Amino acid sequence: MGNILHSYGLKVAAIKIDPYLNWDSGTLNPYQHGEVFVTFDGMETDLDLGHYERFLDVELPGSSNITTGKVYESVINKEREGKFLGACVQVIPHITDEIKQMIRDTSESGNFDIVLIELGGTVGDIESQPFLEALRQLRNEEGSSNVMFAHVTFIPYLNAAGEFKTKPTQHSTKELRSTGINPDIIVCRSQEPIDNDLKSKIAHFCDVDSEAVVNTPDAGSIYEVPLVLEENNVGNFIIKRLQLDITADSSRLDPWRSIVKSLKIQDPTVKIGVIGKYVELEDAYTSIRESLLHAAAAISVNVDVEFISSDVDNLNLDSLNDLDGILIPGGFGERGVEGKLDAVDYAIENDVPIFGICLGMHSMVIQFARRSGFSGANSSEFDENNKYPVIDLMEEQKKINNMGGTMRLGSYDCKLLKNTKSFEAYGDELISERHRHRFEFNNEYRDQLVEKGLIVSGTSPDDFLVEIIELPNHPWFVGCQFHPEFKSRPNRAHPLFYSFLKAAFEFYKNK
Ligand code: GLN
Repeated sequence: MGNILHSYGLKVAAIKIDPYLNWDSGTLNPYQHGEVFVTFDGMETDLDLGHYERFLDVELPGSSNITTGKVYESVINKEREGKFLGACVQVIPHITDEIKQMIRDTSESGNFDIVLIELGGTVGDIESQPFLEALRQLRNEEGSSNVMFAHVTFIPYLNAAGEFKTKPTQHSTKELRSTGINPDIIVCRSQEPIDNDLKSKIAHFCDVDSEAVVNTPDAGSIYEVPLVLEENNVGNFIIKRLQLDITADSSRLDPWRSIVKSLKIQDPTVKIGVIGKYVELEDAYTSIRESLLHAAAAISVNVDVEFISSDVDNLNLDSLNDLDGILIPGGFGERGVEGKLDAVDYAIENDVPIFGICLGMHSMVIQFARRSGFSGANSSEFDENNKYPVIDLMEEQKKINNMGGTMRLGSYDCKLLKNTKSFEAYGDELISERHRHRFEFNNEYRDQLVEKGLIVSGTSPDDFLVEIIELPNHPWFVGCQFHPEFKSRPNRAHPLFYSFLKAAFEFYKNK
């Protein structure tokens, strides 16, 4: 919806509400909640913020992710400061007021026409109740023509009975109503399209306009969803409902249509292996997968992303044989690291393009050091007493005990060395990228490793922190300390992903 309104020329902000108690997503296991996204200002957030940035082509502040933890912390701090003047502090009004304030603060932080708020979880969850109540109050306070509600439901198909079931939608709408919120529009997800009779039935039982029941059957790609909604006149419905002074102009989605078209290219197919330890849940690498798709679309190829587990004593090298490129993503902890080191070795031996991100870059440095005579070199993340800690805890991290929000986080500038692959990719001397790490390239080994042939192609502007490393005499061997995947857009592939995929395509052509 945001994408449609953005295409019409409106300025759209997006907020994700996660009703869990965690203050942010930083300490969540990627197996449970997928990747931890990082905003430019260094907030560790839900991965939906990444989708919002990609669909709205914006950079959202960390305050766009509201959690129960943040809301309660803020209210309790105010209580400790005596700001409530002796009042008994309660969920209503204090928690609900705080939620509304957080929404308004984000809305007012930019000159936005529309603020989209996604409330995670399911209607009926105990932890969602204060948020539903706050949103209900918001409609009263802002006026009904300024606030509308979309209820997203699932229409299951029962194979045994050979029919779709609308009951769950009827029940969840009833549950939503009991909070005082009437949905203006019901978006029904389903595996296959549902017919008009079923839509009329839902409109009838849930008491919404028939044009307000919109079906979004599973699409080939998430990027097609705005087009499905547009075909169902959702943009126009919102404009009318919110009495916006613009007209729905579907042709304004043409640039998006051509992006979707280039994402559908089937041939040739370049195969990239992502060697990580959270591979059972692809959501753990959402932004990386999307960045590869964007890069593939930009060079008019298809990309087949294969997730390969590094979590084996020795990575099965045969599984790398048919890859055109290897990507080693970020990660934490020792499990799976030796498999990543094997993959780095394989890429060096076989001249396969390889891209290391954060822990991936660490793996490249460790393996390069081991091959250059620093036998058994390691990161102190995995072996504190190692003889050659080529990756070490950052100085500023040594005094930190708390886990949450304490890494080196968010955007930092990086200076590029000319005549390197990185400089060629960016075409710029100064770049800015988002970070999330505690360990870094150990400067004690910098001169020695450079002497052995490693290129330090990116550093912090003061030259102190190593941000990018490369190898000469290799088709594409680039490791970066930051996470470029957070800045890739469907309409603007990230320079490093683009350059990596081009090298992988060359490898494919020369096979
Ligand atoms: N575990 C490593 C560190 O903390 C790498 C982090 C990452 O890959 N995001 O520095």
